[in-house]
This record gives sequence, structure tokens and C-alpha cells, in this order.
Amino acid sequence: MTTAPISTLAAGEVRTHDRLFIGGRWIQPHGGARIEVVSPNTEEILGTVPDGSLADVDAAVAAARAAFDNSSVWSGLEPAVRAGHLRRFADEIDVRKDELAGLVSAQNGMPIAVAGQLEAVYPSTLLRYYADLIENQAEDVRQGMFGGLVEVRRDPIGVVGAIVPWNFPQTLAAFKFAPALAAGCTLVIKPSPETVLDSFVLAEAAEAAGLPAGVINIVPGGREAGAHLVAHPGVDKVAFTGSTPAGIAIAETCGRLLRPVTLELGGKSATIVLDDAELDLATIGNELFVATLANNGQTCFLGTRVLAPRARYGEVVDVLTAFAESMAIGDSRDPGTQIGPMATARHRERVEGYIAAGRSEGGRITTGGGRPADQDRGWFVQPTVFADVDNKVTIAREEIFGPVLSVIAYDGDDDAVAIANDSDFGLGGTVWSSDPDRARAVASRVKTGTIGINRYIPDPIAPFGGIKQSGMGRELGPEGLAAYQNIKSIYR
Ligand code: NAD
Repeated sequence: MTTAPISTLAAGEVRTHDRLFIGGRWIQPHGGARIEVVSPNTEEILGTVPDGSLADVDAAVAAARAAFDNSSVWSGLEPAVRAGHLRRFADEIDVRKDELAGLVSAQNGMPIAVAGQLEAVYPSTLLRYYADLIENQAEDVRQGMFGGLVEVRRDPIGVVGAIVPWNFPQTLAAFKFAPALAAGCTLVIKPSPETVLDSFVLAEAAEAAGLPAGVINIVPGGREAGAHLVAHPGVDKVAFTGSTPAGIAIAETCGRLLRPVTLELGGKSATIVLDDAELDLATIGNELFVATLANNGQTCFLGTRVLAPRARYGEVVDVLTAFAESMAIGDSRDPGTQIGPMATARHRERVEGYIAAGRSEGGRITTGGGRPADQDRGWFVQPTVFADVDNKVTIAREEIFGPVLSVIAYDGDDDAVAIANDSDFGLGGTVWSSDPDRARAVASRVKTGTIGINRYIPDPIAPFGGIKQSGMGRELGPEGLAAYQNIKSIYR
């Protein structure tokens, strides 16, 4: 790379926070434990923040509860007034969007170019989208079939416990707080320990926007703090994005408590290349990147099983190999980088374990498979393509969450659909074809929550989420707002 890394952190700067944003104030944490954030690029310490204790979670839930229960604070405000708060919050986030993107990129290895297009854009976009939606939500009064009128109200569900992973910390927090705030809910947000520095900037934006005290509370912490939040008697709804095993544990708790929960979990989606697909990388390269490798493969919706028609199998393998080899690997803060490091050392080990499993189960590596020779520090993995993969082997079944693609041969469209559907997951996917009608027909047969044709990008207006092991419920769109509302019928 020719350009110098850019970051909101100066070289050698260690960002330190000593207080937590709870109840509209910066308060002393209850315990002394700290979280250290380590750079995946340089392995140096980037910052330290309080590790939220169970008592901190209790304080945050109490603040959110008090703000919710006093309806004059937030839940009972006129939608137009709440919408005004959301727009001011969006403005304050926009003021800080470069800082937010820079911090995310520095902490989790997301290429800054990707962070600038996603992490810097979704949060304020979603706040404005939901501000418009809540402001325009029409009164719903129906003529009853047994006489009288029925008023159908959409009341805020209450206090939300929002648990966020490290891969898109700002975007996935906003998937939750934007509709929740619009609905009239209050929140406790628990970011992942790997990406906490950006959450303090989000708190600063909330404070600067003048959100009423207790409406948003942020407690960085690990699994124990998360589990405590999920089971907390003061929480009315849980919204979780993360791994399937954690999602199952959370669903068990919520099931026992009969607590509403939204779960956005892992994926193992299919990129279905039809036999008439355009394969010129100059034409499809950008869209293919978003659909298969974005954020170093650390993205839940990626189509990492590439299904290729047998007649064009060699061609598809060659194109993907060239595509992977064309990727600029480097420091995530460099604007030219397309593939940065894995978020943590432990996660790189996991990805390397899958590459070893792919080899031992008969996969043929056409490019990659190791660590880039020119990176002497940081947790890098080469973009890797496996050919001759059977859909039954480990790398085709389990989510790798790294830059590893598997190419699987199929015979005819029916076979492609059958292989795509032969998965424990159902979150994303794409169909590539020069015939939109044919692509749409195939897309409609794939069992998944979302799917794209020759492109993939979660749109704010469209419900996003998965089926099977990929989760329950939907975020985004009007459906995402409904997830934070209790429907109540008043028979008049
Ligand atoms: P993770 O499940 O380990 O952690 C996610 C969050 O949950 C973290 O904040 C963590 O502290 C917390 N947590 C973990 N166990 C918990 C428990 N038992 N109770 C309460 N909280 C708990 O996942 P991760 O490694 O941070 O993220 C990667 C995973 O997230 C991948 O599997 C990926 O597919 C998934 N993901 C899914 C989506 C989606 O929308 N479907 C989006 C992004 C990431």
C-alpha cells in the first residue's frame, strides 16, 4: 500500500475511559475490572475501558426502567417529538461518523473503506428512516364485525437489552436502537469487549443530542454481563446479534421467562452462479466482494459456498482464484486495503483450523491457505479458495467467518437449489445470472431470510434476518419497528 494508515487514534495513543454512560451521566463503574482493546493490525493496545460488572448492568437497567416507566420522559412522547430526538441523534452521529468508522476499523480489522460505507452510514440513516416511519404511523381504527370500533394500538414494548457483536458494532447496534427508540422503548446496550471504544463515541453523540436521561445506557462487558442483562427482571425484550451457540443460550433464557427476543445469528449462505452468469471481474468484482468477502469474511450474510454449474466449474474456480489474488491485503486503516486482519488472535486460530479441516477433508486450495508473507505482525489470513468441495464437509457446513470460499459443483438449477437449501443456516445468499426472471425464480426457491440478484446489500426498508440456525425475527423495515411494539386492541 502506498498511503499511510489513517485512524482517529494517533500513533501510539491509548484511549482510556474510566466512566460509563448510565442514566444520562458518566458514572463511576462498580468494579475495578478493565477491558483492553488490542489492535489486530499491530497487536498493540489501543484502549482500555471499564469491564461492566453485574452491578453496572443493574444500574443501567434501573435507569432504562425509570426512563421508560415515567411516560413523560420518552415512551409517552408524541411520535413527532421522539422523531425530532432521533434526527438530532442522527446529526450528532454524523458529526462523529469518521471517528466512529476509524475506531471500528482500528479495533476489529474492518477495512476503513468498508467502515466508511457501512459503519459510518447505517446508524444515522436508520435513525432518520425510523423517525419518518413513526411520525407517519397512521392511527388504526377498524369497524368491528360484532359492532363498535376496534382501536389497534402499537405501544412500546418496554426496556430493551441489546447485545451486539464485534463485526459491525455500530451498524448492528443501530439495527436495534433506531427502531427501539422510535417505538418509545429505552435501552441498555452491551457492546462486545473487542469493539468498545466506538461505543463511548456513540454515548457522546446521545448526550450531545440531548436524549433524555436513561433512554440509552451503555455497558461494555463480556458474556457474563450479557447473560445477566438477558435474564434481568427489569428487561422486557432482548435483541441479540452474534453466534448461533450464544443465540441458543439466550433463547433458552428468554423461553423460560416468556420474554420476546430477536436473534440474528450465523450464516453459511450460497452464491449461486447460474450457467448464463456474467463472470467478468471488471463488471461484477465490486458486487462479488460485498456478497462474498466483505469485512475480511467476518460478515454473517456472506455467500461463502459458491455453487458453480459443472460445465463452467473450471471457469468459476479460475475467476474466484483471480478475484482472491487481486485483493489488497494490509492494515485495515489504509484506504486501499480490501482485506484486513482477523479481529482477534483467537479468531484467526479458528479460521486456520477450518482451513486445515478443508485440506484434510479433500478440498483443493487454489490460492491462499496461509498467512500473507509480507505481514510481519497482525492477525492476517490470506484470502483462500477451496475447489472440489463437497457440500457435506465441515467447511461447507460450518460458519468460518473469515476470507475462505468453497466452490461446489452442481448439475442443473434444481440441484443448485437443493444444495443451497442443504444447510443448517438460512440468512443471505445471491443468484448470479444475465436473465433477471430466471434468477428471481431460483432466488424464490432458496430457503433463506434474504437473497440478492447479482448484488447483495441489506436495505433499511427491507426486513433482515434468518431462518433455521440463522435466527428468529426480523430487523430493519417496518417489521423491525414492530419487533419493539406491543399490539393492543381496544374494543370501543
Ligand atoms: P458471540 O456470540 O460470541 O458474541 C456476540 C455478543 O454476545 C457479544 O457481545 C458477547 O459478549 C455476547 N454474548 C456471548 N455469549 C452470551 C450469552 N450466553 N449471553 C449473553 N450475551 C452473550 O459472537 P461474536 O463472535 O461476537 O460474533 C460473531 C458471530 O455473530 C458470528 O457467528 C456471526 O455470524 C454472527 N453475526 C450474525 C449477524 C446477523 O445479523 N445474523 C450479524 C453479525 C454477526
